[in-house]
Amino acid sequence: MKHCTLCPRKCGVDRTLGKGFCAQSDRVRIARADLHMWEEPCLGGENGSGTVFFSGCSLKCCYCQNYEISAGNKGFELSIRELADTFLYLQKKGAQNIDLVSPTHFVPQICDALDLLGSELSIPVVYNSSGYECVQTLRMLGDRVKIFLPDLKYFDSSISQEYSAAADYFPTAIKAIREMVNIAGKPTFDQRGIMQSGVIVRHLVLPNHRHDSIRLVRELAGEFDKDELLVSIMSQFTPVYKAFEHKKLSRRTSTFEYKSVVDEVAALGFDGFFQKRDSASEDFIPEFFDTKYY
Ligand code: SF4
Repeated sequence: MKHCTLCPRKCGVDRTLGKGFCAQSDRVRIARADLHMWEEPCLGGENGSGTVFFSGCSLKCCYCQNYEISAGNKGFELSIRELADTFLYLQKKGAQNIDLVSPTHFVPQICDALDLLGSELSIPVVYNSSGYECVQTLRMLGDRVKIFLPDLKYFDSSISQEYSAAADYFPTAIKAIREMVNIAGKPTFDQRGIMQSGVIVRHLVLPNHRHDSIRLVRELAGEFDKDELLVSIMSQFTPVYKAFEHKKLSRRTSTFEYKSVVDEVAALGFDGFFQKRDSASEDFIPEFFDTKYY
């Protein structure tokens, strides 16, 4: 926290005194903790994931549907003890797992909270991130995290620079995903079909960018054996936040664009998930809070 290099931005700021690109100090901030029904079926099951949305983000995409918390800093502070109690609260509510959304910039605090709980927390922890990660930070997690749910957003560096100010996105994310597979191993499930360990790579198909999506999944197929991870192709893109400043992002993804990527993933032999087209709506964006409400 005195010289933060947790993510590839490597700001080097002292977060006990100030903030870097992620706009977060050393104090944990979250904006929502609740059961969430919209993750992949093998994660949510019947009860849902116990999702904790962290404030701030180290990537900050211009079309972020959670921009209120990723860029707008909505949220409330929690102590390490309160964060641990939040995990227990979600477990008591029946969550299938603890789903940490945008956790990168709070990895040390999350490790401390999980260590306070030890075996009291009996459900798997899911690390749900942008994919823009440092291998060293992932290694800090040790065996505390069983499931990784990284995005893999873009192949082309000019696209990742334009929408997320990260020209190094693809090579950085691929290295991170390799480390996630090293940590979590091949996907495993319990007798109900609920995921217990492994990696699911998510890709959101953007409007007017299906060729980049197809290149990206081909590169993924070149890097990983098909049984090492699952792939989830998402169609929920809705123009929000600064998407309207980019002509190509000012509409939803078409069925043709989405299907062309899904067909490529199937042809490559990946196992995984495809999303219903009716999920492309702002109605699916959860409510976020400025004060602790649970
Ligand atoms: S976690 Fe935040 S402060 Fe640390 S390097 Fe990344 S953006 Fe900078």
